[in-house]
Amino acid sequence: MTCKGICERPEYHAPKPTGMGRYASGQKRCQICETFIKVEGLCCPCCGYRLRSNPRAVRYKRKLRVSKGKTSLEDNKPNRKQMEYVDGKLVLTEISQDV
Ligand SMILES: [Zn+2]
Ligand SMILES: [Zn+2]
Repeated sequence: MTCKGICERPEYHAPKPTGMGRYASGQKRCQICETFIKVEGLCCPCCGYRLRSNPRAVRYKRKLRVSKGKTSLEDNKPNRKQMEYVDGKLVLTEISQDV
């Protein structure tokens, strides 16, 4: 599955919509071509890979990753974290991880 350049044709290439999200305006994301495509079907007309049309799944994943990073930074449980000097820099290190 490779990009054949078909997705760059004007009939498929989706310009960035103004005032609404790409998924909301019916565009779909191709992971292989790394672009948004205007197409009725579920598969990319260029590479044949299944297109992403569900923004919720993407957003949910991204949110999860962000909140995970936030909790590890903002979580100030003293028994879990400690400040350490490493190479002259003060860094926050995790003492114990969930086993
Ligand atoms: Zn392509
Ligand atoms: Zn594609």
